[in-house]
Amino acid sequence: MSLSSSAPLTCISRTIIGLPEGNPSEILLEIRSTSLLQKLIKMRINFKGAIMKSEILKKLESLALERTIPFCMSCYIKAPKGVCPCCHSDDLGRWMDGVGLDWCLNFAIEYILHEKFTPVDTEEAFEEMIRSCYSEETVVGWMIFDTCDLMKSQDPISWRVAQDEYIDELESEEEIMSFDNGSTYYWTYDLEGL
Ligand SMILES: [Zn+2]
Repeated sequence: MSLSSSAPLTCISRTIIGLPEGNPSEILLEIRSTSLLQKLIKMRINFKGAIMKSEILKKLESLALERTIPFCMSCYIKAPKGVCPCCHSDDLGRWMDGVGLDWCLNFAIEYILHEKFTPVDTEEAFEEMIRSCYSEETVVGWMIFDTCDLMKSQDPISWRVAQDEYIDELESEEEIMSFDNGSTYYWTYDLEGL
């Protein structure tokens, strides 16, 4: 059904597509502006999420800087003043006592995250969500099964696909965050307490 038609929509066609009374072109404009508004709201949420993530990352970086010291990889010595005392290079890595060393801070950030927070158990989070949506038990013939166990055992691929989609959705809604491209997730409300 084309909404661009200049002929007024009949009551029946309005009912079918769920439109209120009014000028079709105005209604169309309203629909367009509503979807545009929804897009803008979504963009705003994503933008706010990106800002939140970069702020959390900044905090993590400053914590990692506090906990590490500059290190000359060539001479294999600490260079706390930011210049190697031996070769005078300022091209330095970072050393973290008892943890390790690298050119960038990622290893220290990962260590701090593991030390402070419990990673999201994605399988458990998904199963909990499914259990809240469906009845605990499913009857097949005269047999009673645990619904989740039945689903997992009968179609593990579908279960895995749905779980991955759920985790993607949690991430896009900024409920969880990852700093290693999705290998480990943390709850955003935990990270906000950094
Ligand atoms: Zn050096």
